[in-house]
Amino acid sequence: MRIAIVGAGLAGLTCGRALAAEGCPVALFDKGRAPGGRLSTRRTDTSLGPVAFDLGAPFITADDPAFGAELAVWQAEGTVARWPAAGARAWVGIPGMDAPLRAMGRGLPVRWSTRVEAVAAEAGGWRLQGADLDAGGFDVVLTALPAEQTATLLRPAAPDLAAVAAALPSAPCWTAMAAFARRLDGVPDLLSERGGPGDTFAWAAREAAKPGRSGPESWVIQAGPDWSRRNLERAAADVAADLLGRFFAAAGVAAVQPVHLAGHRWRYAASGAAGRNTLWDPTRGIGACGDWLLGPRAEHAWLSGRRLASAVAATRASAASQPGP
Ligand SMILES: Cc1cc2nc3c(=O)[nH]c(=O)nc-3n(C[C@H](O)[C@H](O)[C@H](O)COP(=O)(O)OP(=O)(O)OC[C@H]3O[C@@H](n4cnc5c(N)ncnc54)[C@H](O)[C@@H]3O)c2cc1C
Repeated sequence: MRIAIVGAGLAGLTCGRALAAEGCPVALFDKGRAPGGRLSTRRTDTSLGPVAFDLGAPFITADDPAFGAELAVWQAEGTVARWPAAGARAWVGIPGMDAPLRAMGRGLPVRWSTRVEAVAAEAGGWRLQGADLDAGGFDVVLTALPAEQTATLLRPAAPDLAAVAAALPSAPCWTAMAAFARRLDGVPDLLSERGGPGDTFAWAAREAAKPGRSGPESWVIQAGPDWSRRNLERAAADVAADLLGRFFAAAGVAAVQPVHLAGHRWRYAASGAAGRNTLWDPTRGIGACGDWLLGPRAEHAWLSGRRLASAVAATRASAASQPGP
């Protein structure tokens, strides 16, 4: 059973690793240049030297015991550590949020910088196509993408699965990344304005205060969903400057000129919840995982990826136990 997985974020890598551990040949495809997805870390050269920004999730938590156990494994491997400033349950990647994903990606056949534009049926299986891609001979194709991208990619091949994803719109999130020549005294390492009078940003995190980091004073500021939606089509540079001004106002400190400032628009930051673990059609050999099946957090992506791998492995085991012709 040759298996293609489209998307190598946390869900796709978890699914791919679990299937590879079952002895299934997997091939992963991701449009990004490196592991991360919505747990990305952006590394930038500034006049102060290199600065790293966790531009997606600022930290992650575990409610599910299985994901808690996985975090303990990652801690033992040295890819995550607790971050008490964000609460007793908060974990961050070491030295960036992408660290556990980079570790998971090692040893898996992932084709980076490869956008899959079409999933096409071919005799006895599936073919993936894109600008620099035409790969066939897959018995199974699985997606591990945000809901909107799942819907677009699966619509021609599996409109029933695409319809489930299309019903779950995500919330966007504008993110600003700023580095400063000096420390912003008097500002706590994690600032939240969630539900406050301005309700502009959800979180602002001092990056160098996270465990395993060093480097200049740098901040990631994440706008709330309503503000992000209202400002969605503005230019990134404009939004970053706007968010930075609102951050200074909320922190109650005088504005300081950053040495580096950039904005990033997450169109599909926070998912809905389909209320199911996975989508899997064993007859056609097509399925989907991702946070949006269970909820908007990293642990939902991990759980969904793992459960899709179990479902596919069970189908494979049951096919292998059938008597041959
Ligand atoms: C701003 C922000 C704040 C967050 N805060 C938190 C938090 O506090 N706590 C928490 O637990 N979670 C948080 N999250 C959510 C968490 O990051 C996600 O739940 C998790 O990373 C989703 O993983 P995934 O694998 O399902 O999707 P993704 O990480 O989105 O992975 C999808 C992958 O698919 C690739 N891809 C997309 N389209 C294609 C294509 N056509 N072809 C090939 N590859 C493609 C992408 O490059 C990406 O690598 C936050 C997310 C954001 C953006």
